[in-house]
Amino acid sequence: MDDDFPLPEVDQTNKPFWDGLSEGRLLFQKCDDCNYSWLPARQECPKCLGANYTWIEASGSGVMTSWVVYHTAFIPAYKDRLPYNVAIVKLAEGPQMATNIVGETDYSNFSIDHPVELAIEKEHGVNVARFRLIGAE
Ligand SMILES: [Zn+2]
Repeated sequence: MDDDFPLPEVDQTNKPFWDGLSEGRLLFQKCDDCNYSWLPARQECPKCLGANYTWIEASGSGVMTSWVVYHTAFIPAYKDRLPYNVAIVKLAEGPQMATNIVGETDYSNFSIDHPVELAIEKEHGVNVARFRLIGAE
């Protein structure tokens, strides 16, 4: 196990997000003024800049909108995971997030708009939100 593995920097703004994951729930922020929803956590709505929001639990359903497969470990702590993917998932509720697709090593099964479901995994003692493909062969 790498001691220099990059762990999330929890602050007052994103603490509800990480606390939610530790309880097995994926949370996102929804603007009280314009109803826009977003990730990652920030202190104001990226659409209307309103400062009032509510944390909402995501259903865990979404689709892949983009991905890359890394064959070079630009972060040394990831060298034993090569090749690994980083994907953008759009949640059913609207927010998009950077994540990893797990349980699938045949990248020919990856496609835009492929349905995914939440798969929370423990990473160096911290629960993180990953996703798996639904209906993969
Ligand atoms: Zn707003």
